[in-house]
Amino acid sequence: MSKVLTVCGKNIGKNNFIFIAGPCAVESEEQIIKIAKSLKKTGVDFLRGGAFKPRTSPYDFQGLGKDGINMLIKAKKETGLPVITEITDVREIEYFKDVDIIQIGARNQQNYELIKEVAKTKKPILLKRGFACTLSELLMSAEYAVSEGNSKVILCERGIRTFESETRNTLDVSAIPILKSKSEFPVIVDPSHASGKRELVLPLSLSAVGAGADGLMIEVHDEPEKAIVDGAESLNIKEFNGLYKKVNKMLTAVDKKRN
Ligand code: PEP
Ligand code: MN
Repeated sequence: MSKVLTVCGKNIGKNNFIFIAGPCAVESEEQIIKIAKSLKKTGVDFLRGGAFKPRTSPYDFQGLGKDGINMLIKAKKETGLPVITEITDVREIEYFKDVDIIQIGARNQQNYELIKEVAKTKKPILLKRGFACTLSELLMSAEYAVSEGNSKVILCERGIRTFESETRNTLDVSAIPILKSKSEFPVIVDPSHASGKRELVLPLSLSAVGAGADGLMIEVHDEPEKAIVDGAESLNIKEFNGLYKKVNKMLTAVDKKRN
């Protein structure tokens, strides 16, 4: 059973279920504020948005960097939504002062020096599973934060690489109860990166709730067809609102509640 972690007044873990939502990447101030306002209205707990984007190709959009973080902070000020964004390198750490949860992405799950430096900030960390990492490797990575005196870690199952090519990754549903039985960290699920396909985001979200996840992180864009990054897996606001309602209905069946 996970311990309860409280971030910006929101309880995460045990019987408390959270929603993190937002675009893959912060694209402009106007975009992130517009999406944040809609998500606030829906009732999400945290706003996500990538500013430092770890892209497979160096020629693709790399994110707005420090300016992107400032836009996210502006959206936080406008809506009151706490924010989460990814760090890709220790040299970026100074820009994360007003960020509420620092994300360490799949590609950096085993970047122990980065984990240790982020842990020293004392901020909560969302640690995503590497796509070729075992659950014990994920738990050991989390220990790098704990060993620096920071146990405010949330684990995230975001799909692993398998031979299946219909989906971007394969959601490892069994990771949820296993991680929860082996540790006290809250475990959330990212069905967007796990599938790469918007039509799979709802069914995977429901399966995650059924398996005992403590929250979801979903990519949402006001105009997914125009998204610079990951449009194919992004939900529009209306689709997200539908998912939000369905997931909430299911929470009572698994004894979870919303903050
Ligand atoms: C993300 O959440 O923006 C992201 C890049 O995810 P992952 O590290 O899981 O690929
Ligand atoms: Mn993405």
